[in-house]
Amino acid sequence: MPCKRCKTSPVITLQSGNQPCKNCFIKYFEKKVGKTIREHKLVEKNDKVAIAVSGGKDSLTILSILHNLSLRKKDFEVFAILIDEGISGYRDKTRIDAEEFCKKNDIKLNVFSYKDELGAPLDEIIKKTGISGCTVCGIMRRSMLNIAARKLGATKLATGHNLDDEAQSVLMNYMRNNMEVTARLGPITGIKRDKQFIRRIKPLYFMPEKEVTAYSFLKELLGKYSECPYADQSYRNDVRDLLNGFEQKHPGTKYAIIASFMEILPTLKEKYAQESGKINHCPKCEEPTSGIICKRCQLVAQIKEKLAKS
Ligand code: SF4
Ligand SMILES: [Zn+2]
Ligand SMILES: [Zn+2]
Repeated sequence: MPCKRCKTSPVITLQSGNQPCKNCFIKYFEKKVGKTIREHKLVEKNDKVAIAVSGGKDSLTILSILHNLSLRKKDFEVFAILIDEGISGYRDKTRIDAEEFCKKNDIKLNVFSYKDELGAPLDEIIKKTGISGCTVCGIMRRSMLNIAARKLGATKLATGHNLDDEAQSVLMNYMRNNMEVTARLGPITGIKRDKQFIRRIKPLYFMPEKEVTAYSFLKELLGKYSECPYADQSYRNDVRDLLNGFEQKHPGTKYAIIASFMEILPTLKEKYAQESGKINHCPKCEEPTSGIICKRCQLVAQIKEKLAKS
């Protein structure tokens, strides 16, 4: 069926059954992301938005959309942050894609590496310490992004999480009874206001993965696809397969998970904001933490000790 609006060839079938052509799809996609930004107040006047880029399709899509929006509106700024874990054959390739994109579009890109932070790239850390790559990233990437965004004066930190990522996270947290972690999800995060936490925004929150992939392909943002050799997310992969299977049989499942989650989110945020009490600040790095020494400083000490002994 040709595009309803311009009677030309369709490029995708949307959830609604509509089959837009390339131009209509790009307009639809950008309009929908713009609506998420407006309705959830993700970006406000005078914001300085740090965009976490990896060089993958989701991060280049959000970088491109927010950069173009900042040029049009002229009342907020964007810049990019890339965390280079030091994974040869993977991050070195996507880093080139991110650098080329930023150079072409005149976007300031700030790169921080595990090598500078931990004394060795992830390849070497895994080999010499035996700690799993995803464990290191799970703690380091989040805190390095927060510290970098804060030091660079950002008021928001944007990530490329899409509807599929979030539906998986919601379901995983339900299945593991991690409701406090669930309360930190949503298009704009932060159950507590602490000056040290830069609020995270997810403008692609309501965009299915399939649509993000199509958009990045049509806008030629898609670099060479590569996967991290240390990917160890078996639980997430199982949930992803389960959801994809359900979506195929019962279209609309992922939207339904996010829509019902959005209804209970205000209650969850209120409950855990009250229950989680006072935030401490780590005496070593001053990052917010629920314990005394933060997880990041504990991990850094452990890695450095093991590297020194190796
Ligand atoms: S798959 Fe795991 S090790 Fe690889 S970049 Fe992602 S979190 Fe890090
Ligand atoms: Zn059209
Ligand atoms: Zn610390």
